[in-house]
Amino acid sequence: MQLIVFIGPPGSGKGSLSKLFVQRLGCIQLSTGSLCRKHVAEMTPIGRQIDFFMKSGTLVSDELIVGMVADWLKQNNGSDKRVILDGFPRTVEQARLLRDLIQNELPDCLLHIIQLAAADSLILQRLSSRYICENNDCQTVYTVKQCPALMPKIPNVCDLCQSNLIRRFDDRVETVTERLKTYHWYEQSLIDFFTHMGYQVNYVDVDRSIEMIFNEVKDLIIN
Ligand code: AMP
Repeated sequence: MQLIVFIGPPGSGKGSLSKLFVQRLGCIQLSTGSLCRKHVAEMTPIGRQIDFFMKSGTLVSDELIVGMVADWLKQNNGSDKRVILDGFPRTVEQARLLRDLIQNELPDCLLHIIQLAAADSLILQRLSSRYICENNDCQTVYTVKQCPALMPKIPNVCDLCQSNLIRRFDDRVETVTERLKTYHWYEQSLIDFFTHMGYQVNYVDVDRSIEMIFNEVKDLIIN
């Protein structure tokens, strides 16, 4: 198994890029944000515990998140596919637990780290035009301006499952500001951790078209 970690602020394109890798290269996407939203929407016991954190734009506990990811990875181990970790790990503790999991239970797993970098002003602009599919099993991300490749073919309708498109509750400006603060708080320590562990952290500027970003990341992970 190959694991591809996208480290980047909300709105840096983790979800959209992951979708392209799924569609074009057959990768599997594991988005912790989508998993969390699904739990909240279905009001599972985990969903009830994390609802507040999701709504306020702060992080869910490392223990809960790592538990979800570990279960998923163990169930899908053995597949020779590339798995994109979209939004995980977000903290050094999550990265440490991921490293332990790989060392102890997934020894053949290769890890690629991609840092998606963007100025906060670009993020705020992107998130103000972001919509997602309301179907919890889909959650495809769209934009209503700037980028034809990410616009739905029919306004407000998901191209993939025909459900309605909605705004994410946590894409409101106040919450985005909090999420960016949280992201910047953890970003450098996470990068330092991976670098210290001997992994190459590949820096990718995302202030470009999604096609250009896709090609650059593809060249980094397929060699
Ligand atoms: P995202 O869709 O990646 O922007 O995540 C939305 C929200 O889900 C975040 O603001 C957190 O509350 C929660 N979340 C997603 N991934 C993680 C993670 N790796 N660690 C902690 N909280 C997370």
